[in-house]
Amino acid sequence: MKTIPYGKQNITREDLDAVIETLQSEYLTQGPKIKEFEDAFAKYIGSKYAVAVANGTAALHLCAMALEVKEGEKVITTPITFAASANCVRYCGGEVVFADIDPDTYLLDINAVKKLLEASPKGTYQGIIPVDFAGRAVNLEAFRKLADEYGCWIIEDACHAPGGSFTDNNKTVQNCGNSKFANLAIFSFHPVKHIACGEGGMITTNDEILYKKILMLRTHGITKSNDQYTNSLEFAIGREVTEADTTYPGWYMEMQTLGYNYRLTDFQAALGLSQLKRADEGIVRRREIAKTYFDAFQNLPFIKSQSGSVEGHAYHLYIIEVEKRYELYNYLRTQLIYAQIHYIPTHLMPYYRQFGWKEGDMPNAESYYKGCISLPMYPTLTAHEQEFVINKIKEFYA
Ligand SMILES: *Cc1c(COP(=O)(O)O)cnc(C)c1O
Repeated sequence: MKTIPYGKQNITREDLDAVIETLQSEYLTQGPKIKEFEDAFAKYIGSKYAVAVANGTAALHLCAMALEVKEGEKVITTPITFAASANCVRYCGGEVVFADIDPDTYLLDINAVKKLLEASPKGTYQGIIPVDFAGRAVNLEAFRKLADEYGCWIIEDACHAPGGSFTDNNKTVQNCGNSKFANLAIFSFHPVKHIACGEGGMITTNDEILYKKILMLRTHGITKSNDQYTNSLEFAIGREVTEADTTYPGWYMEMQTLGYNYRLTDFQAALGLSQLKRADEGIVRRREIAKTYFDAFQNLPFIKSQSGSVEGHAYHLYIIEVEKRYELYNYLRTQLIYAQIHYIPTHLMPYYRQFGWKEGDMPNAESYYKGCISLPMYPTLTAHEQEFVINKIKEFYA
């Protein structure tokens, strides 16, 4: 019998053809598919710019670099997220300050962030990294207002939420990652996420300066733009300049800052581009699956579903909080249902404990961790498979 995982990619014949075509083209990396994928993704999300990178973690790292996180500078994030949301601050030597989650939405609690900001002089915190956890959009309009009061930037970790949205005060729908309120947003194309590239990531922004900075950081800090060069034309050419010498030589480039090789390959971009075409139907299916779970568990007292408005939810994960979580997890595995736990609170990872974080610091996150479990959620999950999952859970509690 087949196992039922919590998340799974879907690779179609069309995807394969797109990858093969690119593999047989002239470019394996830095070819035309990268820009095509970036443009299509920016259009889908509604941002002005997009930069494709090697993975979501690289995307976070480049954002933290572009925003100039430095030694000892403080950045606030949630403990209920993948560790990379916090780690990007550490890559740059900054200090991660966790703020607790809202127990109903599981998202970074804006009031907890506000308390932190109010308790210290302005300028203490440099930025905030909210996460659209499980696919549920953070109200970034509210975060922007708060961030502006304290001179903070915002990186939206939208890895769970391509296709997600919230409605702002003007009743305008704001897509996750459109960077209307955040300075930068990031996505991942790991196979469990909505769009799979194998490995891959994207940064979106409306800020031209940050966009150019990130383009450069993605490729070793190298630029090939005439208008950005700082070395003399004479140096570049290698002899005295004559009147006929108006541009820099064809081979010329400058490494102006310390960057990385965080590029995506062209064939990964081709896969992403092909997958992106099915993004909307994927969201529709995810919402159907969520509704079926919600209805099935509605009247079971030992199961708590994510509450509050779920409008615009992109459902990367379908999470319930339950009693006897450990036993349920093990029971489901005996039935070949591989549920998962998202997440072990980051502040209690041994790496972060060394900075003084301890049990009791984030009561909502810690209480959530004790009961949370992510059920199978992916567009190709069949109605029959979902019914099997629901029945096994009901059986367990019967
Ligand atoms: C997956 C994920 C990342 C990291 O993305 P990778 O592509 O795996 O590096 C970061 N943040 C969140 C919330 C994620 O789910």
